[in-house]
Amino acid sequence: AKGKGKGRQVTYAAEMDQRTAEQSRLAADLRVALDADQLTLLYQPIVHMPGGELYGVEALIRWNHPARGPIGPDVFIPAAERTGLIVPLGAWILEEACRQAMAWRTSLGDAAPRTVTVNVSARQLREAGFASDVAAVLQRTGLPPSTLTIEVTETAVFDGGSALAEVRAISALGVKIALDDFGTGHSSLGLLRTCPADVLKVDKSFVDDVTSGGQQAVVVAALIGICEGMGLRAVAEGVETAEQAAELQRLGYRYAQGFHYGHPMPASAVATYRPAPAGN
Ligand code: C2E
Ligand code: CA
Ligand code: CA
Ligand code: CA
Repeated sequence: AKGKGKGRQVTYAAEMDQRTAEQSRLAADLRVALDADQLTLLYQPIVHMPGGELYGVEALIRWNHPARGPIGPDVFIPAAERTGLIVPLGAWILEEACRQAMAWRTSLGDAAPRTVTVNVSARQLREAGFASDVAAVLQRTGLPPSTLTIEVTETAVFDGGSALAEVRAISALGVKIALDDFGTGHSSLGLLRTCPADVLKVDKSFVDDVTSGGQQAVVVAALIGICEGMGLRAVAEGVETAEQAAELQRLGYRYAQGFHYGHPMPASAVATYRPAPAGN
């Protein structure tokens, strides 16, 4: 058994080397992609229950690699983080999302998404002056700060350096702060105590359990109470079925995001998004 363990370790190390090399290749390609129009943002509806009307959208990046086809962010964001490329990439994402948000406000008026949320990674948050970059983008695009939401994870906020100070400075601009993947970290309640927050995004892993009688269902029920008590907006992530949506509403949830309501879609489709007919 010992020998087997060792062999497993060697394989693991080799796999890690391979993955690192793969990430370096990806990062090199990504540098090109950033200048070559291979990156686009899709927008996933965040809806109001029970009707499913559009409340906001989350910007999610996609990379259409010329040789390999579409590559998901779960693959290339870590590579971009490791190489620091996430800093210029993240700046592009923020600017593009704010520009789009402003375009919706101009063309759709009251029907425009009320908030556009942008994911920000640990590496971006660690850059001193990140909050001033956000302020500059808002100025350039003319987007009202209160219509932008920045999504941060516990890992990113507690990453050290000036991360927490940057989040506070962004919040002071009037931009909304959402705590992403809430509940999956080590110190979720600690995060609530130290980090300014307007929105709590309850991670899909908990939502998955609400109808399956899993243990995490009790967490979903408790989190809505915390949100109500603290004046936070709770958004249930990864809602895939009508049953989950019904159970979440029974627990008091009013906002949801997930394939049941809409997949990430191009900006043009957001303009025509309508809730699915009831009973769907
Ligand atoms: P996330 O921020 O937690 O985003 C939600 C992910 O769940 C998205 O995957 C979305 O497509 C997926 N999703 C939404 N609803 C459902 C559902 O009902 N079922 C299932 N199975 N999945 C659902 P995506 O777009 O592949 O993004 C993965 C992760 O990559 C994101 O997780 C986020 O951490 C990161 N990411 C995506 N775009 C950006 C970006 O622009 N900047 C940064 N820094 N990270 C990004
Ligand atoms: Ca997110
Ligand atoms: Ca999430
Ligand atoms: Ca996630």
